[in-house]
Amino acid sequence: MDLRYTDAEEAFRAELRAWLAEVVPTLGPRPALTDWPARRAYDTSWQGMLYDAGYAGIDWPVEGGGRGASPVEQLVYLEELERAHAPYVGVNFVGLLHAGPTIAVEGTPEQRARFLPPILKGEQVWCQGFSEPDAGSDLAALRTRAVRDGDEYVVTGSKIWTSHAEVADLCELLVRTGEEGSRHSGITWLAMEMDRPGIEIRPLETIGRSTEFAELFLDGVRVPVGNRVGEENDGWRVTMVTLSFERGTAFVGELLQSMEELRRIRSLARRVGLWDDPEVRHRTGQLGAELDALWALTRRNVSQAARTGVPGLGGSVFKLAFSELRQRLATLGLELLGSAGLAWDELEATDGSGPIGNTRLLEQWIGSFSRTIAAGTSQIQRNIVAERILGLPKG
Ligand SMILES: Cc1cc2nc3c(=O)[nH]c(=O)nc-3n(C[C@H](O)[C@H](O)[C@H](O)COP(=O)(O)OP(=O)(O)OC[C@H]3O[C@@H](n4cnc5c(N)ncnc54)[C@H](O)[C@@H]3O)c2cc1C
Repeated sequence: MDLRYTDAEEAFRAELRAWLAEVVPTLGPRPALTDWPARRAYDTSWQGMLYDAGYAGIDWPVEGGGRGASPVEQLVYLEELERAHAPYVGVNFVGLLHAGPTIAVEGTPEQRARFLPPILKGEQVWCQGFSEPDAGSDLAALRTRAVRDGDEYVVTGSKIWTSHAEVADLCELLVRTGEEGSRHSGITWLAMEMDRPGIEIRPLETIGRSTEFAELFLDGVRVPVGNRVGEENDGWRVTMVTLSFERGTAFVGELLQSMEELRRIRSLARRVGLWDDPEVRHRTGQLGAELDALWALTRRNVSQAARTGVPGLGGSVFKLAFSELRQRLATLGLELLGSAGLAWDELEATDGSGPIGNTRLLEQWIGSFSRTIAAGTSQIQRNIVAERILGLPKG
């Protein structure tokens, strides 16, 4: 594994950097977290700009509208986006980071041509319908049923924690097509259009004041058999591909954002007069070293993905370490704010140096807890690392 960038990768970086420097300052302010229609419009319009300029789907196949470049160029792309403070995937993180990549690997040529370009152009947003009230960590217990009727499946059941369902056009949906109790061997992966009759979306409001996710109730929803990715009852294998992208590469952009956040926290420590506190120095130094180590691990995971086409189990190591680190990072930020960290409204510094950034830090602190649950809890990642990487016995 060579962690250095090639001349071609550096040339790509220079070209992208120049484009971002021109375009990012022209973007309007980002909409409020709670304004979903505005968030969708903002994020998909940015995606359309990336597509028109040739910067969408860096490592996606050319026939799906991507650039067909290496995953390493995708890393360069993420570094430059963060450096320019450009918007990131936003409401379509499912489409761009795991449904799309899954279809790129597991879909038929027709499915790639049909589903991938609208994601990259910002025309279609996806959500993920995997979890159910009694099937989260134990996903193979899912019960939403799909019965074949001619060239359609008729789907009945319910899903929960469906992120961004309110603004989604399609859902990567796991259904049971095998016998009851068939567990891993009776699951099928479907692309369900969200405007089909029989779908009810009930948004769930979080403590962070946003309806980040929803419950989905499916009552006889008809999904064409042509929307099935992989074979019937082979959906567990396809799901493992989706989860390897979700855990392995989907958080990489957030890692770069956390590096930026640490820089802001160092600056906050100076502003509140705590930069000479040995404990603050120690904690920021430790977090910085861990972020650097995770970046090196990311490069390793990505070079593995470049060889195999799919991120490996290293994604679980990354997801576990990163989601727990983010909690410590956000906690440090909140502690530096003291009682100001309890206010939702943005506060001004007493020295006249402008807003102190308390709202963002509070949102990040609250959100950081959900990251150790989403995409598989820390306990589940520990089980995977123990059993499948270290070879320890089950249980
Ligand atoms: C912000 C956020 C966004 C999400 N978005 C989506 C989405 O878009 N689509 C979707 O389908 N799902 C989504 N989820 C759901 C997420 O995948 C589940 O919450 C997660 O898999 C855990 O399942 P659960 O909530 O049912 O908890 P449970 O599985 O009931 O777990 C409860 C507790 O028991 C522990 N536990 C369970 N089994 C074991 C075990 N074998 N060993 C040790 N400990 C165990 C867990 O670690 C946890 O602490 C999202 C969750 C969050 C927080």
